[in-house]
Amino acid sequence: MSQNSLDFDTIIVGAGPAGLTAGMYAGRGMLKAIILESKVPGGELLNTEKIEDYPGFESILGRDLAQKMAAHAVKFGTSIVQETVIGIHRQQDGNFEVKTEEGTVFRAPTVILTAGGTPTKLGVPGEMEYAGRGVSYCAVCDGAFFKGDTVAVVGGGDAAVEEADYLTRYAAKVYLIHRRDEFRASRILQERLFANPKIEVIWNTKVEELVGDASGLKHLVLEDTVTGARSELPAQGCFIFIGFRPNSALIQEHFAHDAGGYIITDDRMMTSIPGLFAAGDLRVQLTRQITTAVGDATTAAIAVEKYLAERRSRVGV
Ligand code: NAP
Repeated sequence: MSQNSLDFDTIIVGAGPAGLTAGMYAGRGMLKAIILESKVPGGELLNTEKIEDYPGFESILGRDLAQKMAAHAVKFGTSIVQETVIGIHRQQDGNFEVKTEEGTVFRAPTVILTAGGTPTKLGVPGEMEYAGRGVSYCAVCDGAFFKGDTVAVVGGGDAAVEEADYLTRYAAKVYLIHRRDEFRASRILQERLFANPKIEVIWNTKVEELVGDASGLKHLVLEDTVTGARSELPAQGCFIFIGFRPNSALIQEHFAHDAGGYIITDDRMMTSIPGLFAAGDLRVQLTRQITTAVGDATTAAIAVEKYLAERRSRVGV
């Protein structure tokens, strides 16, 4: 498939909650929009079993909300195409070229980047070796493999605390290992965690190594961050939730970002590159929730409409 003309008003990269919302609003705004996504639409929603913090839905399965959001975007005329974006490049004339692994080049005067991020790795020996054989970054995807087992969870943010609780539905025992003596996770999630008798928190501790054999992970080597004492913790699973890296490297020009690679936008969600908008988890912001992703994307899609109208009145295209 090759698209050589400016077939779209906007190209949305990523079909998580931000991308699907941008698609819905762009469609409602009568823009010709396409969403490019390498996997099934839903993004992080598909890594979450139950969602309890999306207004109007006291509790909804992540995959159900993903389907509803995708159907809503499509209903308003936005197409969702399964291709993997490998680069976004702004050309001399101010239009963008979005290239995919499949060899397609999509062109549009605006892009809304909603590609989220990838999980941060611990970077310790054994992590790569036992990935998929005990080491995991997704409790919903892999939790059921650890029925009756002992598993470790690493991290102290919302994801680690929430997923440790989730994993107790399968595992007999869950150790939550955190490098400090307090969590940064929200109070409500912490309360749920402390009330769960299957969970034991190991404070002030970092993971030094993941050790196993041909059958998979066997134990973790831990180090106390205060005393320096080392110990071994037997576990068949190790779930790592220590944040993630934004997928901002798709942008081929220089753009304003923070030290973690998160994209800096203005209040219209425009990046430092004119016509390139960003919404959701890869943007610099206080918190990363479904609701904030959806809010960002609403602003971005409406800002795209205004940007295109201004551009038309200025340069007549
Ligand atoms: P996060 O909030 O950035 O927390 C990362 C945690 O990992 C921190 O506790 C950090 O420790 C720890 N950490 C970082 N690098 C480490 C390393 N090398 N070794 C050991 N520990 C390390 O990330 P997150 O939990 O993935 O959440 C990301 C965003 O999604 C947040 O904004 C969060 O609110 C949101 N989220 C929300 C929900 C929800 O509301 N239900 C669920 C999941 C995620 P320190 O505390 O010492 O820095």
